[in-house]
Amino acid sequence: MPFPRVVRDEALVKSHRRCCVCHEFGGRSVNVHHIVQEADGGPNVIENAICLCLRCHAEAGHFNPRHPMGTKYSPDELRAHRDQWWSHCQTHPDEPLGLCLEVGFMVRSRTADLHKYRLVIGYTNTLTQAHDGWKAQVYIPAYVPVEVGDFDRCDVRIDGAVYVELETQSSAKVFPGETIEVVPNMQHFFLEYEVNHSNYNQVLRAGKVIWKFFTSNAPVIEGEKPLAELQEF
Ligand SMILES: [Zn+2]
Repeated sequence: MPFPRVVRDEALVKSHRRCCVCHEFGGRSVNVHHIVQEADGGPNVIENAICLCLRCHAEAGHFNPRHPMGTKYSPDELRAHRDQWWSHCQTHPDEPLGLCLEVGFMVRSRTADLHKYRLVIGYTNTLTQAHDGWKAQVYIPAYVPVEVGDFDRCDVRIDGAVYVELETQSSAKVFPGETIEVVPNMQHFFLEYEVNHSNYNQVLRAGKVIWKFFTSNAPVIEGEKPLAELQEF
């Protein structure tokens, strides 16, 4: 028997729909898992529930004290992860909003002195209501060559440095739990940038990417990341 709806909901809310072990946002693919399996007498109550992502769920499911291979997840350890994460969520109630813009990169090509990367940004609506459209702005230092499809671009100054502002927007609704590609990796819609011989040192020292994400009914999500942290050299 699965957990009753009310127990599932409580576990999801207490965990901010994030995995209690790796803390990754799970959206629709988060699982409410039994810490002690039902087959072993585990009850369908909140004390026996833990939210896990698909990967951690698969790993935790492999706990079997009779097969001592690798470092298994024991029920006590799972319970400790869960309690630690729940108390973190309780003291950081605003976190689901700010953490759900995922910024990463993809390698396009890499030679000894020219690296090309694509920026990829995804957003998950963690609210209980839909957004009516959204707008995203990405800022890349002007000395970093960028190639883009389908973005509006202009030059702006931030803290005395020149950046290229790239803007994209959509009027499509984003439903609760839905994940959208804000800066996708598509043939005609992408954001590609170059790290080469002449900008390498500058990128390593101070280059950063800045972003702002606007929706109709949530606070603006703002953030930045050093470019050096974003890629592998
Ligand atoms: Zn996980």
